[in-house]
Amino acid sequence: MDRVTPAAFALAVFFAVTPHAPAAPKTRFPAGTKAADVDVCLQPLGKVDASVLTAVERGVTVAYGFTARSLAERPLPAAAYYKPRKRWRADKLLDHLIAEVVPDSGCDLVLAVTTSDISVTKGEHRDWGILGLAYLDSQVAVISTFRTKRGVSRRTSLMRTVKVATHELGHALGLDHDDSVTGCMMNDARGTVKTVDAETGVPCKHEREAIEANLGVDLPDVTAMDWPRVLGR
Ligand SMILES: [Zn+2]
Repeated sequence: MDRVTPAAFALAVFFAVTPHAPAAPKTRFPAGTKAADVDVCLQPLGKVDASVLTAVERGVTVAYGFTARSLAERPLPAAAYYKPRKRWRADKLLDHLIAEVVPDSGCDLVLAVTTSDISVTKGEHRDWGILGLAYLDSQVAVISTFRTKRGVSRRTSLMRTVKVATHELGHALGLDHDDSVTGCMMNDARGTVKTVDAETGVPCKHEREAIEANLGVDLPDVTAMDWPRVLGR
């Protein structure tokens, strides 16, 4: 039997009333996980051009070092349709991914891609069209190419789509908006796609470090998107 000595008793009381030092933060992946072990799946919702999916896959790999692949196309879920504006509710699309796609996918993250217009309720706006949405610190994100196209070349539209993808994945990886450094991936678009044009599409150093701390995975130190590789020319 252990004996409780006065000294041990005093120690026990001391620890009982002293707040514990914070435990090491829980990371999402076990120690030793490499960035390339992280499996990001693109889920086309409705028909999406293969060249768009390929560009987004490559962009995700350049920005994060993750492995990216595309799943077979699925239809947009009827429950997400908002008839008055002919749009698809982005939060309902995320819920659909969580319920129907993530569980059997084997994917660490699922990024839905659609050409249809997507929306959320934003302040007094019942239905506000957006470029993309993700739940913070989750496994799911969704992007739409609908608002990347107006009045710009296909190349610019593709670049925007890739940047929206890495931004929304940043949210899923635990990052909130951050305007401390202009041009960083997590700058708030503030309702205009022009903000996206000013972003590099890859994590700035402080963003990369925050993701690494959350995942427990080292990411590649990249400072710019490799556009020739991503766009295939
Ligand atoms: Zn955002």
